Amino acid sequence: MIRKQLKKIFGYQDFRDNQMEVVESVMSQKNTLTIMPTGSGKSLCYQLPGVTLKGMAIVVSPLIALMKNQVDFLQSKGIQAAFLNSTLNKKRIKEVYESIHAQKLKLLYIAPETLNKKETIDFLKTAHLSFIAVDEAHCISEWGYDFRPEYGKLKNTIQELGTLPVIALTATATQPVQDDILKKLNIENATVFKASFLRPNLYYEIRPKQNTEKQIINFLKEHDQHSGIIYCHSRKKVEEMAKLLQANGIQAAPYHAGLDHHMRVTSQDGFLTHQIRVIVATIAFGMGIDKADVRFVIHYDAPKSMENYYQETGRAGRDGKKAKCILYYNPDDINKLEKLNVNKNVSERENGNLLLAEVRYFASSSICIRKQILNYFGEQLEKECGECSNCLHPTPTYQGKTFLVKILEAIEATRHQLSFIHLSKFLCGIQDPYIENNEFNALPSFGSGQDKLPPFWRSFIHQTMLMGYIRRETTGGPLSITPKGKSFLKKPHPLSLHEEKKYDLLQNRAPQEKDVVDQKLLPSLLALRNKEAARKGIKPYLVFQEHILENMATYYPTTLKALTDLPHVSLSKANKFGTPFVQLISQYVLDHDIKSVETMIFKPSSTKFANRIQFIKQIDKKIDLKELANMRNMTYRSVIKELEEICRAGVRLNIDYHIDTLLTKEEQEDIYEYFYDLEDDNIEQACDELGDDYEEDEVRLMYIKFFSEVAN
Ligand code: ADP
Ligand code: ZN
Repeated sequence: MIRKQLKKIFGYQDFRDNQMEVVESVMSQKNTLTIMPTGSGKSLCYQLPGVTLKGMAIVVSPLIALMKNQVDFLQSKGIQAAFLNSTLNKKRIKEVYESIHAQKLKLLYIAPETLNKKETIDFLKTAHLSFIAVDEAHCISEWGYDFRPEYGKLKNTIQELGTLPVIALTATATQPVQDDILKKLNIENATVFKASFLRPNLYYEIRPKQNTEKQIINFLKEHDQHSGIIYCHSRKKVEEMAKLLQANGIQAAPYHAGLDHHMRVTSQDGFLTHQIRVIVATIAFGMGIDKADVRFVIHYDAPKSMENYYQETGRAGRDGKKAKCILYYNPDDINKLEKLNVNKNVSERENGNLLLAEVRYFASSSICIRKQILNYFGEQLEKECGECSNCLHPTPTYQGKTFLVKILEAIEATRHQLSFIHLSKFLCGIQDPYIENNEFNALPSFGSGQDKLPPFWRSFIHQTMLMGYIRRETTGGPLSITPKGKSFLKKPHPLSLHEEKKYDLLQNRAPQEKDVVDQKLLPSLLALRNKEAARKGIKPYLVFQEHILENMATYYPTTLKALTDLPHVSLSKANKFGTPFVQLISQYVLDHDIKSVETMIFKPSSTKFANRIQFIKQIDKKIDLKELANMRNMTYRSVIKELEEICRAGVRLNIDYHIDTLLTKEEQEDIYEYFYDLEDDNIEQACDELGDDYEEDEVRLMYIKFFSEVAN
């Protein structure tokens, strides 16, 4: 019967997972809480009953931007629906009121702040209502990751509207949030439906955040038929990344809340219609996006919570086919996010930091990633999944028996009152107001784990929690011993644990360029440079400047073409000196099984670039340099310096037409010879040493000639 409706109205063949049970519960006017992962079809759970039951259903949703989409979708199925929120003008509001009054609507989407208004409540009291759906119900909970104060007022509002059944829906499933929802909506008698959070078709991987841009481009080139999403924190990073990908021939588009509406719609539509392969986005993207064949989700930056991580990765593989989720992790990212929390009020800050701490444990832990995710959402995965990056690359193990005994004894001694953080302090014998106030520092087991540092204990506690020896009711709440833990304490047995993954190597390094230089390859390149310089009888810097070698050791160009993609390497320079270098790199890449990015392009900052092209063209036209300075409103010297930069960047400039008017052939040769002997690229030294005989400008101009002819 109801299945027939499903087919007739929505055109779906059958219900998914829990949908039918939930629909039946709502149809029979019962309070209902349904917890289903994002994308699994929560909307249908209220839409179908909304259409079928007598009267109009109210749908509370915080996602104002999506209301129109939802309503359009319903109307396309011939269902009478409308929405009310702060974006509507008076006229439109009046129209909606009229259609409610005329009992024409089946579903009314409404923002919480609009619903909570007295006039709205008064009006809706007069309407014939079927039930109230509270979407994104976790927004009611301060434990959740998306607390919204307006949700807190819903309890009263709902009460005022009379005795209506309530269906609450969320994708957040931790126990405290779940309990909070029931309590704060006053539906503690609700039937709870919880779908599994297992996503068997998703492959999870966590990689150190190192050489990330290069890795991402490689990944995108290897998966060139697939589309996906890359999440970054900041708008700036989103823009940069999108530009980098575009410069590398990947159809990518940025998406963030700072872009104008038109841009966002274009990106989103392009993504849906396969015009755009990769969306680079802040978390603003994806809500309500319904693309089934997203084949990968990459986190360039760490997520703010496990809920975020689950939701964002959850956008991959909705069609049920395999999809990849890759997180690039650097503990520093979490530190940065913690700093952002500083501006929040105390409870929000503490909660925000607890959520971040979970991400930190998650990313550092060597336990099966899938298992950790499910455990976070209150499900147990008995066995390791065997295919996530932690399962595939296990860390070394160590004996954990005595450590676990210490932990369990400490929990007992402190009567199950210590949280994660406090317990690790307690074991290390670190004083803390909470510990002192409860006089736990007087216990014999205080400091019983002093031989290890707090991070060790935190990781250990986290692992044994995942193994089911200890548990906690709430994130940040006190730890207690499970029955499994109790029997272990009675009769301890050997226990093999995995070492944490280490990211601290990364932590203190300067980011970007320097970070990614292959320190094994660089010395060989330097040696080759010396050899080539000696062979040609010139100084090494004229072959390739050091920063070019560093870029080679970073991006592994294996062809002359790829070499010219590096900054400051012109085609003529590549042709002149490049061959032995790309040969060496090709061999190195083969020997070390490194995938090189064939065509990583660095986009020069565009205005500067355009400016330089102008310059080069004017030199080609043999325009007098003094005149050029006038035209460009620059000094003669700064024109010369700009030309120096251009030729250092690998461009071969011919300014003979100018030099010939200043210096005789003999003088030119004299300076030229001098440059041959100059050890380093040190123009100041040259000006100094030649200063008695020549003007500084002359020396500089000759340098341009010399460098252009010998090095470029
Ligand atoms: P959620 O709110 O849980 O993130 P949605 O309600 O937006 O997910 O549904 C996700 C997608 O699944 C939508 O495109 C919806 O049309 C589709 N869908 C929902 N239920 C079914 C079903 N029973 N059969 C086929 N598709 C469905
Ligand atoms: Zn696994």
